Amino acid sequence: MVSQNSSASGSSCHSRLSAPVLKCYHNEVAPLRVVRHNGQRLGMKFYACAYWPISKATCGFFSWVDDVNLIQDMQFQILDKNTTITDLENKVKMLKEENENLEDQLAEVEIECNERRLMMECEADDKRKTYALLLSWVFFFCNHVLDVLITKW
Ligand SMILES: [Zn+2]
Repeated sequence: MVSQNSSASGSSCHSRLSAPVLKCYHNEVAPLRVVRHNGQRLGMKFYACAYWPISKATCGFFSWVDDVNLIQDMQFQILDKNTTITDLENKVKMLKEENENLEDQLAEVEIECNERRLMMECEADDKRKTYALLLSWVFFFCNHVLDVLITKW
């Protein structure tokens, strides 16, 4: 069932698409290995404890990788990533709309601010004019009083 060729194409496939990451009982990433000795299982892939087979500290974690399952797993991963991408694209769209709304609101606030500033400037201008008028009246009145005083004297 498993020939040299299929394992070769399989491994090239793995380099493009990442195989699912499994962790051993040490909670360390279990490397994906290939059976290299001749036999029925030649070319089959498996996950084993990171310390296997060199160290005796191996936790005994071992799991065969079924090529079919691996491909299905990777297809699932791709689908999952596509879903994530779609979700993110939707979020981006929503954020853009929100941003546009906020920009509209900001523009409205700016217009209102400008209107208020103009109104305040006008009011200030009116006050200045009123003071000027009052001052001129006072000045005129004082002059008049002085005139009267001088003529009477
Ligand atoms: Zn382990």
